[in-house]
Amino acid sequence: MNYHILTLFPEMVMDGLNTSIIGRATKKGLLSIEAVNIRDYTKEKHGHVDDAPYGGGAGMVMQAAPVCDAYEALCEKIGKRPRVLYMTPQGKVFNQKIAEELSKEEDLVFLCGHYEGIDERALEMIVTDYLSIGDYVLTGGELPAMVMIDCISRLVPGVLNNDVSAEIESFHDNLLEYPQYTRPEVYEGRKVPDVLLSGHHKKIEEWRREQSIKRTLERRPDLLDDAVLSKKEKIYLAKLRAQQEMQEEESSKNN
Ligand code: SAH
Repeated sequence: MNYHILTLFPEMVMDGLNTSIIGRATKKGLLSIEAVNIRDYTKEKHGHVDDAPYGGGAGMVMQAAPVCDAYEALCEKIGKRPRVLYMTPQGKVFNQKIAEELSKEEDLVFLCGHYEGIDERALEMIVTDYLSIGDYVLTGGELPAMVMIDCISRLVPGVLNNDVSAEIESFHDNLLEYPQYTRPEVYEGRKVPDVLLSGHHKKIEEWRREQSIKRTLERRPDLLDDAVLSKKEKIYLAKLRAQQEMQEEESSKNN
């Protein structure tokens, strides 16, 4: 996977993606990360890349020319025109499914805005996907690009030591992951659930699926509409929901 990040702050993304799992994967050659400084493509005397918005209003807007020129120079260098993901609070909210889809690409361009954003004409000309990391406004697209690159990279074969661990964790089958435990067996009087020490793989698997369903119902019931469940698991969920309703009725009676 080759990432190309168009930004005014290359050191921010390069420093941030240099460490731990992503840093190691880059050294191993599984990923390549390159930041392109949009400022290198300005033709203005003083190196300006932004200007006041037409029509007035607060802040500055990044100009179209350096953004488009940076992208065109990149395309010429690598001999292809990869997808351009514009980081914007106005985009589709990024999630695991989008990450899975993007991880199949060979090259991805991340376009990071700053100030009030980028001149709309540049976006119309080069952007293929508008992506957000959530309903809040940040100062720049660099952190969102780093978030997405981190997430997509975990899905690139070989990046995690254990490829299955990316497959059966939160959001797989639209469920949250089950609780995890490691040594010691007893910590501050709290014991690891017996089933995990039983060595009985089928039972462990069953327990984990049930815990996933329970946890998703408690914390993110919205995910359950699209969860992939077996017949038996659907019955288990119905039982949990009935219990939940009974408890709610109880507590409303007591209040
Ligand atoms: N004026 C814009 C916000 C600009 S924020 C608006 O109201 O829509 C400055 C830059 O930060 C944006 O160009 C974008 O690249 C980035 N950004 C801010 N919040 C973001 C979010 N939630 N997700 C992705 N990118 C974001």
